[in-house]
Amino acid sequence: MAAEFGAKVGIAEEIHLGGTCVNVGCVPKKLFVYGSHFAEEFADAAAYGWGVEKTHFDWTLLRDNKNKEITRLNGIYERLLQDSNVEIFSAHATFLDHHSLTLNSTRVSAEKILIATGSTPFVPPIPGSEHVVTSNDMFYLDRLPERLTVVGGGYIAVEFAGIMNGLGVQTTLVYRGSTFLRGFDQDIRHIIARELKEKGIRLQFNTTITKIEKCRTGLALLSETGATIETDLVLYATGRKPHVQNLGLENTEIQMSAIGAVEVDDSYQTTVPNVFALGDVIDRAQLTPVAIAEGMAFAQRQFNHQQGVVDYSAIPTCVFCQPNIGTVGPTEEEARDTYSQIEIFESSFKPMKHTMTRRNETTYMKLIVDTTTDKLISAHMVGPEAGEIIQGFAVAITAGATKADIDRTIAIHPTTAEEFVTMRDPKSN
Ligand code: NDP
Repeated sequence: MAAEFGAKVGIAEEIHLGGTCVNVGCVPKKLFVYGSHFAEEFADAAAYGWGVEKTHFDWTLLRDNKNKEITRLNGIYERLLQDSNVEIFSAHATFLDHHSLTLNSTRVSAEKILIATGSTPFVPPIPGSEHVVTSNDMFYLDRLPERLTVVGGGYIAVEFAGIMNGLGVQTTLVYRGSTFLRGFDQDIRHIIARELKEKGIRLQFNTTITKIEKCRTGLALLSETGATIETDLVLYATGRKPHVQNLGLENTEIQMSAIGAVEVDDSYQTTVPNVFALGDVIDRAQLTPVAIAEGMAFAQRQFNHQQGVVDYSAIPTCVFCQPNIGTVGPTEEEARDTYSQIEIFESSFKPMKHTMTRRNETTYMKLIVDTTTDKLISAHMVGPEAGEIIQGFAVAITAGATKADIDRTIAIHPTTAEEFVTMRDPKSN
């Protein structure tokens, strides 16, 4: 965008173009989610008359096909940059001073420098942490383990637990608190815990791992209480930290926050006026679409004389566990704290598809309305394609839709999504 607005732009990337999302994040993860879901589809097919005699899964084929697709996307990114006349430096960048960088052995200077180096997986420094893998490694495993233990209770932990369980790996998820997915609506957290258990994932909450060691059968995770979990592979999904290693920030006066993020103001300007930062390397939402919105705002402001503001108030998001969680707006608990009067509309049902299969899966939906203005403030969902459904509700909320608008919206029948426009009676407060 900056180049299209007339700026002369160079980009330094030392590995593959596209960042975490394209290479070791959203995109390959979603391909794996598709891959893992086939197990259920085959099982459910029988109720619809299909005889699926014998199925066979080949991990290396899925992994390699995924790799091919990612290489294709890397090429598309390269062409997009070339077509915009952006100079690509396949190099690690290190600040020499506020206006210049070394890119391997080349010295480059620029009027403005943008840091968009993202984040890397964080593994707590416990004895035996050298035995664990992170999400980066999960995309390239040589073979699938028989048993996997995932430590963590956020997006990555829950998504990989679902993928691996679907691919037939005996999966245990260990979380240090009482219910995982902190920050999501309580009802959603409880319902998804029940759904994941129903699908065969072992959930072990209130468990803090203090040590990991090799044992006769593989690896042993030792917990604070003295209990041990034996497994073949340990995935730590315990958050991501801003990626600033070897950037040469010590050669600048750029200030860092307590958690090691680059500090910026509302226009993504660091404490050095010509240096900017955005995406996971700053301390805001670690989500690709948010980083893209920040990048567009930056380009608009710096090179197109526009305001360039990002609205962080209603960020929709989806956890691609199975079934999905889709959400936009505050949780019920946050809404009760913020608004003087709210109404909750909820619905819980078995999806039509599973009325014919024996699968015991619940779809859950919740709308939260500010009663004083009638404005819709949140939509939360657990169910198939929740991400696809919630995206539309994010538009409605961003546009300021009221409950009356939702009520006069005609349903699409028969769908799951129609339930959102047919919830008439509020739950008692
Ligand atoms: P999250 O921040 O979502 O979750 C981290 C989890 O690890 C929390 O459950 C946290 O527990 C736990 N944890 C943190 N430190 C420790 C520790 N020392 N010991 C044990 N447990 C610990 O991080 P993720 O790694 O899952 O994902 C990183 C970010 O990437 C997400 O925040 C999200 O923004 C983004 N992402 C988005 C996706 C999407 O949009 N679908 C998919 C994947 C990632 P506690 O809650 O107690 O702090």
